[in-house]
Order: sequence, then structure tokens, then C-alpha cells
Amino acid sequence: MSGSKCVRLTGALVKQVLDSVDSVLFDCDGVIWRGDQAVPGAAQVINLLKEKGKKVFFVTNNSSKTRKMYVDKMTTLGFHVKEEEVFGTAYCSAVYLKTVCKLQGKVYLIGSNAMQQELEAVGIQPLGMGPDHISGKQADWANVPLDPEVKAVVVGFDEHFSYMKLNRAMQYLSQEGCLFVGTNRDTRLPLEGGKAVPGTGCLLQAVETAAQHRAQTVGKPNNFMFDCVASQFGVNPDHCLMVGDRLDTDIMLGSNCGLKTLLTLTGVSTVADAEDHQKSGSAERQGMVPDYYVESIADLLPALQG
Ligand SMILES: [Mg+2]
Repeated sequence: MSGSKCVRLTGALVKQVLDSVDSVLFDCDGVIWRGDQAVPGAAQVINLLKEKGKKVFFVTNNSSKTRKMYVDKMTTLGFHVKEEEVFGTAYCSAVYLKTVCKLQGKVYLIGSNAMQQELEAVGIQPLGMGPDHISGKQADWANVPLDPEVKAVVVGFDEHFSYMKLNRAMQYLSQEGCLFVGTNRDTRLPLEGGKAVPGTGCLLQAVETAAQHRAQTVGKPNNFMFDCVASQFGVNPDHCLMVGDRLDTDIMLGSNCGLKTLLTLTGVSTVADAEDHQKSGSAERQGMVPDYYVESIADLLPALQG
């Protein structure tokens, strides 16, 4: 990429950038919707990009929904979307275990029903879903019965996360050759009104601390999310734009994979955050500086309607 970075995408430059790509990857929360509300104009942008022959994909670190659940939500909000265009970490983790790890065995899952469904869809049997309350004494916890067929521990968002789940994951991970996979490292889930709740990164760090080693993560900024899309749809990174609201996940993924990057200001990160990275002089932090930014993806509309 020649020229300066973190440029406001406006006027004739919008069409120029869109003409230079044939695929666009969108993060979801903070980009096309906020909570249960579509970002105004977002559905029109997505639908017009598709009408103009662009390939559009959705890449989200949120592991609480299956592809089908995302399509249902998007359809309700007015987006024209097919299941195969949606790459959430519930789906991508299942694909990762199946195709990269070639897992033979069951999964001990700290995660959601959505993750259970996506694992089952690729023929992997998960166990451990739902509440797991503590009983007995410490010696009982250390000798908790384990399923000998479990060959991997997978950690995603789990509203029933507990001490007993943490213990069980640690006992499985103490076994020789047990794989350790996390969906993502996002530490907080932002909500409307400036509120937030703890994200999967908190749960994953707890398990990593107990297990005394790090998990392989599947979600952004790991290349696997893009590789998953690219391998299924033949996407050329030189002609692909990544649109996101977070510098450390979305924009970093785009930089890691050689994509053009666009920050939208309807979510977590700000232009000041990007400029701080740019001025830092740190090579790693340059990966969190987007090529372009917009106030909202609705800023792309005039170029698409013209
Ligand atoms: Mg987001």
C-alpha cells in the first residue's frame, strides 16, 4: 500500500477503493449492527455491494451463534445473506478442529449450544455443555472422572463458566497430547450505553493459567478466519477489503493477511486510537493502523447508488 494510512474515505476515493476490490469482509457487531439494531444504511450497503457483483462475507469472533442463527438475525434486520457467507468462531473452530487438527475424538467444550451444534455438524462430539456445579472436596476435584475419548479442550463464550469447568478443562489438558483451542481473545463484550460484560478472552485466560500453556485461537486477528473464507471462495487478498470497528482484531486481521483495511467509527475503536498506534513507532502496532476510516459504513452509500 503506497501513500499515507488512516485516510478518511470520502468523495471520489470511495468509488476508487470499491472498484479496486472484488470481495469485502465485514465484522458484525459495531459495523453492520449494534446489539439488535442495524446500523442505519448498513443493509443497503451490503445489498448494493452484492448487486454490483462483489463477494461479501461476515467474519465475527462472537461464538454464541451458528451460521443459521446469524442468517436469521441478519434477515430480520434486512440483509440479504446466505449461510455460506457467514464465518463465526463457532463454525470456524469446528472447521479448524476437523481440517487443520484432523481431530479424532471428542471435545471437552466450554462454550454455547451454538458451538455444540457446529461441532456436531462436522461430526465431532462435544461434552460439557450447560451448568457444572461443584461438589465434594479438593481431592475429588483433582480426580474428577474424565472421558478417555476426549482429545481436545475448546473454549468459547460460556455463560455457565464455573470453577468445576475450569478444573475439568485443566484435568483434560494435563493429559498427553490433548489439543487446546480457543475461539478468540476479546476481553469484553461491549453493550449499548457504554456498558460491557466479560468476553471469552477472560475465560480463555483462566483456563490457560490453570493449564500453564497457551491455546491456539481461531478468531481474528489469527489468519485462520481469512484462510477459511479464502479457501472456500478463492478470495485474492490483493482485491479484498476488511471492514471492522476494532483495531486489535479486525484491522490487525486485515494487515496480517495483506488486505486493504477500513475502520468504521460506529463501534469500539476511534481515529485517535489508530493515530496513537501510527505514532508509536512500534512495527507491531502499525498492523493496527487502518488504510482508511469512515464515520459509518453508510458513508459508502453514495458511491454505490451513483
Ligand atoms: Mg466489532
